[in-house]
Amino acid sequence: MSGLALNTVTKQFGSFTAVDNVQLNVPHGTFVCMLGPSGCGKTTLLRMIAGLDTPTSGAIVLDGADITATPTHKRDLGMVFQSLALFPHLTVGENIAYPLRIRGVAKETQKKRVDELLSMIHLTGYADRPVNKLSGGQRQRVAIARALAISPKLFLLDEPLSALDAKLREAMQVELRQLQQQLGITTIVVTHDQREAMTMADTVVVMNGGQIRQAASPIEIYRRPADRFVADFIGSTNLLDIEADSAGRAVVLGQAVEGVALPEGLTKATISVRPEDVHLTAPGVGALNGKVTFIRDLGGTIETFVDLSGTQVIAVSTPRERPAVNVGQAVGVKLTPDVCVVLKQ
Ligand code: ATP
Repeated sequence: MSGLALNTVTKQFGSFTAVDNVQLNVPHGTFVCMLGPSGCGKTTLLRMIAGLDTPTSGAIVLDGADITATPTHKRDLGMVFQSLALFPHLTVGENIAYPLRIRGVAKETQKKRVDELLSMIHLTGYADRPVNKLSGGQRQRVAIARALAISPKLFLLDEPLSALDAKLREAMQVELRQLQQQLGITTIVVTHDQREAMTMADTVVVMNGGQIRQAASPIEIYRRPADRFVADFIGSTNLLDIEADSAGRAVVLGQAVEGVALPEGLTKATISVRPEDVHLTAPGVGALNGKVTFIRDLGGTIETFVDLSGTQVIAVSTPRERPAVNVGQAVGVKLTPDVCVVLKQ
């Protein structure tokens, strides 16, 4: 297979398993974001792909060649890691040309490549500037260009945008994705920012406790989370316990929900209902009945908090679809099978 394969990769630090039996295929030219809470093992996994850590067991295969024991500098990688800062005493051009210079690439070719990369990162004309005169976003673009100078097979980035302010980070996410698509380079980014992952990735890999909980497209992860952890970690959701009654019907908060089935062999599970899928109705038969406790009007969206006998559900709507309800009002929440994702607990 062309691309990267992680075959049952495990990393132990003493008796602690930081990465646990990870199996993943990253097809050539795709963009993967590894996402998960602090300590879930995403950086350790990236470091093993980079050759900065060695797996305790398992294999890393790049374009069909086993690179598990190959040193970093022979892996044909471009890396943007926080620990690999720009050289402060060199100019923008010298920084970008550095990997070419140490490989003995001819001066003229270096210059041509630097100009090409500067144009790609929208910094044409900046070659002679000292890097310490650049803004945070510009510096990060130069780090990206330096990593891409040798046209690597694999581009690895560890929290590349986390030092930037929110607006710039959002703009750079789009830029990074466009650059990756333009180059068609296989790219793996570690992030803890789910919006960043959803913006850039073909495949989002959600990790927890050293294991992959789900690897799928952003929309699949959002719409069809594999388990309760993924549903709760990606976006906001309402999680409700669901159980089978004596007749085998699925019941939520004492109310049978037509058309929703529990997973085979289980009598208890959880349903995830995204806030934008919660439809408020008049209270009555066929709905979960509750009371509006709070309305948060954020301008672009309105969040209506509903208390269902001690369980809180949040409904999100646009101003145009604003529910005609007030705080204290009795309402019904209608659950339909198409909005409920049934998850194992
Ligand atoms: P963060 O988002 O906080 O960087 P992460 O998901 O990248 O977290 P890792 O840095 O991969 O997590 O760490 C995974 C686990 O392995 C953590 O519990 C960490 O303490 C542990 N760990 C990482 N490196 C070492 C090491 N060299 N020695 C011992 N334990 C380590």
